[in-house]
Amino acid sequence: PSAPRGALAEIVVDLAAIRHNVRVLRELAGVPLIAVVKADGYGHGMVEAARAAREGGADMVAVVTVDEALQLRDAGYVGPLLCWLTLPDVDLVRAIEEGVDLTAYSVAELDTIAAAAEAAGLRARVQIKVDTGLNRGGAPRATWADVFARARAGEREGSWKITGLWSHFACSDQPGHPANDRQEQAFRAAAALAADNDLHPDVLHLANSAAAVLRPSARFGAVRCGIAIYGLDPAPGSTPDIGLVPAMTVRSELAMVKELAPGDAVSYGQRWVADRPTTMGLVPVGYGEGIPRHAFQQGQESGSAEVAVGGKRRPIRGTVCMDQFMVDLDGDPAEVGDEVVLFGAGPGVPTAQDWAAACGTINYEIVTRIGGRMSRTYV
Ligand code: PLP
Repeated sequence: PSAPRGALAEIVVDLAAIRHNVRVLRELAGVPLIAVVKADGYGHGMVEAARAAREGGADMVAVVTVDEALQLRDAGYVGPLLCWLTLPDVDLVRAIEEGVDLTAYSVAELDTIAAAAEAAGLRARVQIKVDTGLNRGGAPRATWADVFARARAGEREGSWKITGLWSHFACSDQPGHPANDRQEQAFRAAAALAADNDLHPDVLHLANSAAAVLRPSARFGAVRCGIAIYGLDPAPGSTPDIGLVPAMTVRSELAMVKELAPGDAVSYGQRWVADRPTTMGLVPVGYGEGIPRHAFQQGQESGSAEVAVGGKRRPIRGTVCMDQFMVDLDGDPAEVGDEVVLFGAGPGVPTAQDWAAACGTINYEIVTRIGGRMSRTYV
């Protein structure tokens, strides 16, 4: 066998792809676009993704936590910014000073924001999130009237401006799912009730990527897109080709090449056994870098995730370890240092969606969990 090398792997993020995707989505939706860059920009880098999204025409950037929002401000992002989880012990005063749109789900949260606005001596910017059926965050329907009344009162008292009213779909990646109609109707009812309470948010928004693409009636005053700005399919099997370009490519190099004889078993648990002389390549990343252990499917000659080596698709063989996994080079000559593309964009290269299908998960999880000891490079 050739000697192992120290090379790990690189996450290459194509910021031009993010700019392009934002442009495509904004044009398709025909309304302002809120670019979702939470969780480190779905693994692409929060600050860089936010900048690229704005350059591509995004009207606002969104994250989940106040801390993420303040990190963006600290990194020099000055544009419109929304966050939606007001955890205890966060610096709401600073968020208000920084002009971050905070999201409130309840009268209690509005009371907390009112106190912070008073401490800051400023009017906060507040959006109200209503629960229309996801049953996660958001004001439950039974509380809408009270929340809207408190929101209106706070607006009169100068605590805040209500800059938005919004909700989130549970099943927008299944365009025929009846929950979509129900949620959209509930959202319209919330907007009507807000108006009855003399509450007139600047913008209504409901659609994430899948709904932005597939459900024109849900576009309202803005769409809130995450996965599609990174060029990944928001509803595999249902999305028309709108020309999205995947922004993330994960590449590595073969760290070792070795020959196995029939009967040789590979990796922990010896879950894959060669039935013929086989050339194997060692890829020096593993679940420590977020490579799913489910990328190898035991007992199946197909079904495991594949990588591209020398332009050919090569299946993973044997259990994915913390720091490495093996690929079947099928007897082709290969050398230490040969490029391995795990997934990304371009002809012949597996996509994050291919990996998601092999691993029994969604493309979101594949890109968001990628990291560990890999470096990230921007092109
Ligand atoms: N809005 C909310 C509340 C979210 O949690 C998310 C992401 O999960 C998004 C929008 C963006 O969704 P997507 O990545 O499907 O476009």
